[in-house]
Order: sequence, then C-alpha cells, then structure tokens
Amino acid sequence: MFKRLFAILFVATAAFAQTAVLHCGSVLDVKSGQYQRNVFIAIDGEKIGAIGNSAPAGAKVIDLSTETCLPGLIDTHTHVLLQGDITAEDYDVQLLKYSQSYRTILGTVAARRALDYGFTFIRDLETEGAMYADVDIKKAINQGVIPGPRMQVATRALDVTGAYPLQGYAPEVPVPHGVQLVDGPDNARKAVREQISFGADWIKVYSDRSYFVRPDGVLDDIPTFTMEELRAIVDEAHREHHKVASHAAALNGVHNSVEAGVDSIEHGQYIAPEDIKTMVAKGIYYVPTLYVGEYVAEGRAKAGAKVWVDMVKIHADAFKRAHQAGVKIAFGTDAGGFDWKINPAVEFPLMVKYGMSPIEAIRSATTVASELLGMQAQVGTIDSGKLADIVAVPGDPLADVGLLQNVNFVMKGGQVYKQP
Ligand SMILES: [Zn+2]
Repeated sequence: MFKRLFAILFVATAAFAQTAVLHCGSVLDVKSGQYQRNVFIAIDGEKIGAIGNSAPAGAKVIDLSTETCLPGLIDTHTHVLLQGDITAEDYDVQLLKYSQSYRTILGTVAARRALDYGFTFIRDLETEGAMYADVDIKKAINQGVIPGPRMQVATRALDVTGAYPLQGYAPEVPVPHGVQLVDGPDNARKAVREQISFGADWIKVYSDRSYFVRPDGVLDDIPTFTMEELRAIVDEAHREHHKVASHAAALNGVHNSVEAGVDSIEHGQYIAPEDIKTMVAKGIYYVPTLYVGEYVAEGRAKAGAKVWVDMVKIHADAFKRAHQAGVKIAFGTDAGGFDWKINPAVEFPLMVKYGMSPIEAIRSATTVASELLGMQAQVGTIDSGKLADIVAVPGDPLADVGLLQNVNFVMKGGQVYKQP
C-alpha cells in the first residue's frame, strides 16, 4: 500500500516537472559527430522527453542558445576518497593522520566538484583505505542528501601481502593498507564475495608494482597475484555478475590481466603488441589515465623514482598503438590521484595530442564509457527516454576539445546543478 502511494506521488512529481525545456544553440550528436542547430530538449521528470525545434506552449525555457549541449561526461576512473598523492608521504598521511570520517567529508566535496566540472557519472575505483565510504557517498547522492554524480563503486580493492602501501614501517608497527590484502585463490574469492555483499559494483585489483624500463624500452614490473589468484577473482566476480577493473601499468600486470579476462585495464603505460590483440579480441577496455602520469612524474622523480618520467613517453606510445589497433578506450583520469581542484577534463587535450580526434575523445567519455559501465541504455547520448544528464559549453568542443574544461551548465536526472 505504502509502495503504491509512493508510486503515485512519483508520477505526479514527474508530470509537474515536465514543463522544463532546454534551448540549446547546438546539440552534439556524439554518435555521428554532427551538430544539430537550435534544438529544444523537453525534460520529462528525470528523463529526456521530446526533442524538437520549438518549445511547447507554456514551457519554462532554460536559455542555452549560445551554448553547445552534449551528454553528461563520464569519468571511469576516480578516487573521491583520495586528495592527491604525488609522493608516498602524501599518501601515508591521509591513511595515518586523517580519520575515515574526515576523509568521507572530503570525499563529499570531491563528488560535488566532479559534478560541477560536468561529470554526471563516475566509476570510483577504490577508497584507498577508507573501507566502504564510497558506498555511503553514493547512497547520500542517490537519496538527495548531497549533490554529486551517479556512481559505480569498487570499495576496498584487492592486492597481495607486501605489495601495496603503507609499506616501509617497522614490522612490529601495525599500519593500515590502501587495499584489502588477500593471498591464495580461496581467500581472494572470499574477499570478492565480502566486497560485493557490502555494496561493491566493481572489483578492483592491483596486478603489478615496482616498474622499471628494460634496455629494449619495455616497461617491466613485478606481477602481484598468481594467475590462479587472478582467475579466481575474475571468475567469482563474473559469476556474481560484477566486472573487474585491473590496475596494470606494465608488461606482466597487463598480460596476466587480459589472460585472466578482466573487463578493463587501468593505466596501461605499457601494453605488449600481443596483449593489444587480445584486448581487441576479448573486448577489454583500456582506461589510459594519461594526465595523472604527467602530474606525478616530476615529484616522484625528485623523490628518487626517475622511472615515472620515462613512463610518460612509454605511455603515449602505448596509447597510440592501442588506439590504432582499435582497442575500446574509455575516458578515465585517476582524479584524486591528483588534486580535485584540477578539472579532470584536462585529460581530453592529451588524448587528442596522442592521436584521437576530438569526437573520439568525447565518445570515450560518453558512449564508450556508458558501455563500459553497462549503462548505455540510460546515459551516454542525448536521446528521448534516456536520463536527462546534459552539460553545455560556450563554443565548439570539436574545434577545441579543451573547452570541456569550461562546462558552465550541468543537469543530472533533470535537475539543474549549474547554470551560466
Ligand atoms: Zn586509480
């Protein structure tokens, strides 16, 4: 009875909200890469209603006639619970000196910033020691308690003993870790079950560490999991209809991950030619996160790890090879790995610099990203019946993709969060 009453109220609210119409100077059809001029988009509750070339009588028109409208942007690799970590010290202090409650407060601010930048959907790829706080931030956003993007979350992530910070403390000092430590396939499988039971949408694994450049230019690493462990994680996640994102920056981490059948490769500074072929064949997505590598390189080199400077060039080369081979590339930035005060849309010009056309870069953050999230029926294009997640920029993002750093209108689920 209560449920039915609620449904009736919802319908009434939706009907009441139908009067809003966006008048866009241009709408970018991300599928064709073409502009439609002078478009009126009716907002029907949380969804997109009719799209036409005039406003229905009596409609409340939001004037975006000097703007280009496009689908809400999607960042498929963020950390709202991390506030930048150029050096190991930056990271350690957040886990050692900030309470999880304080980190969650900062996380709500990061989520708000993401939405304000025009990212109406994020895949947040682990809490870095803040346990299940991402599930709570997502819940608070979905219940309208705080503003923020739609979220898919990975909770704690998985790595093996001895591979992930905090490291380097005296053995007798118990320190927190930025992941859930698992050893052995049964233990790993149990952790997957646990994380899913507490709200994980994705399972995140760290597949490699300790990077070094070989004389032949290949970026080598130490793989973390055994193949048996990695296969158990992927099998358990898939058995429960969840996907696996693998942090894999170099040779063995990427190879083991694609062989185990993960759903996305995160970072991929180096990907061997045969692994690029496997990614195309299996439909595994590549989330390159180009900007964060450049952001941390100098600081990490100063702290003694010069390899991060070399990795920038190797990364650009891997990106070019993967793009040319037709790997599905989804937009992801690792925001939180860099300061949330930096707009993650800084990634777009880098993708274009390394070989994508502007429309391909925009697709990576709309249609391609929506497919990675399994949400292509709901988001990713401006089409009648989809969720009304729409942003706007003043100008032509196909002429200058850097304009995506100037989103000045943000609508999510039919609600306006930012207006010029
Ligand atoms: Zn990350």
